[in-house]
Amino acid sequence: MKKLITILAAIFISSNLMAQDTYIHAGKLVDTKNGKVLNEQTIIVSGDRIKSIEKGYIDPDSSENQVIDLKNKTLLPGLTDMHVHIENETNPSKYLQRFTNNPADDAFNSVGFAEETLMAGFTTVRDLGGTGVNIALRDAINKGKVAGPRIFTAGKSLATTGGHADPTNGMKRDMVGDPGPKDGVVNSVEDARKAVRQRYKNGADLIKITATGGVLSVAKSSSNPQFFEEEIEEIVKTANDYGFHVAAHAHGDEGMQRAVKAGVKTIEHGTLMSEETMDLMKEYNSYLVPTITAGKEVTEKAEIENYYPELVVPKAREIGPQIQNTFSKAYKRGVPIVFGTDAGVFKHGENAREFGYMVEAGMPAMEAIQVATIVPAKILKVENESGQLAKGFYADIIAVDEDPTKNIKTLEDVKFVMKEGVVYKNK
Ligand SMILES: [Zn+2]
Repeated sequence: MKKLITILAAIFISSNLMAQDTYIHAGKLVDTKNGKVLNEQTIIVSGDRIKSIEKGYIDPDSSENQVIDLKNKTLLPGLTDMHVHIENETNPSKYLQRFTNNPADDAFNSVGFAEETLMAGFTTVRDLGGTGVNIALRDAINKGKVAGPRIFTAGKSLATTGGHADPTNGMKRDMVGDPGPKDGVVNSVEDARKAVRQRYKNGADLIKITATGGVLSVAKSSSNPQFFEEEIEEIVKTANDYGFHVAAHAHGDEGMQRAVKAGVKTIEHGTLMSEETMDLMKEYNSYLVPTITAGKEVTEKAEIENYYPELVVPKAREIGPQIQNTFSKAYKRGVPIVFGTDAGVFKHGENAREFGYMVEAGMPAMEAIQVATIVPAKILKVENESGQLAKGFYADIIAVDEDPTKNIKTLEDVKFVMKEGVVYKNK
């Protein structure tokens, strides 16, 4: 009921504002492009865009126009999380739910996850893999049927047989079958090509591969290489034809190197990254997506009896605790970084925990904000409309109580959310 009211309120506010402008008085405003915090600004919003930003508090000349007073808040552009799984969320029954949930169940659940993400100040996310509900959810949000962030989605991740994201891992033999490119399982250059084209046909925006083993799959290795370089090259080459970039899940160093050399744009987790691979990433301008929050979460959950399957526990204990340290080393060595958390592995809406962990590991707060705003906008090719509070950009605006460059934790308690000119939260 609460959700319905929120959506109705948003629709009401949006239709009510159609012909008017909204003047937002911002006590402080984070200029992500120049890395500065400005005092006393007015953001004028018209429709779904920012019409202009003026110094000082400007009042509208007509009573048609509305004023939103955020003089005691700090305003930022809506945040972007480059690694979420919007369809699902960790819980002790998750492995069983593969057999009990219908897509419609996942779809209804995903509506709540999308709303929690938006209310936490994330107005854009890159979804790195689910069953296909993610594609329908993206479309429903774009059409205004559901409240949620703008979604760029990989649809279903691409894996190799038995690899991380093979959808039948851990099942009894007569249920396993032989999944192929249609289901996102690739075992040759030809399969690679077909799997990418199938994702295009299904409506994905980008491609995700699992270049190495992973923690939460029911399979033995967390880090062995799982694609040949020629298979990844073919994926990247085919993806380029559709304007897709490629993201690669990778914990192990060998698989990571193959992915970087093949032209993958983002490396997810990067846990066991060598200095050689860090230098390669700089050379190829490949970004590390840290997901420190997921590392912390799996470390903690591995100690709860029966939370994860038996095969998963030692992998979670091994990989989880190393992620923050790798991020710290990679950042200090100059590896390009973009913000991503792996939300879904932990609770949706807690995405901003990542900021605190990044700052703790040595990244200045302003830079942590920039890698969650202007940097992802560039990778998603929306740098002229997202990631900044500036004229002509989407009116994706959030507000927090304190200056986040002084207290980064304030981002964990977002008080105001506007997406494309519609207010979803103002408390
Ligand atoms: Zn993930």
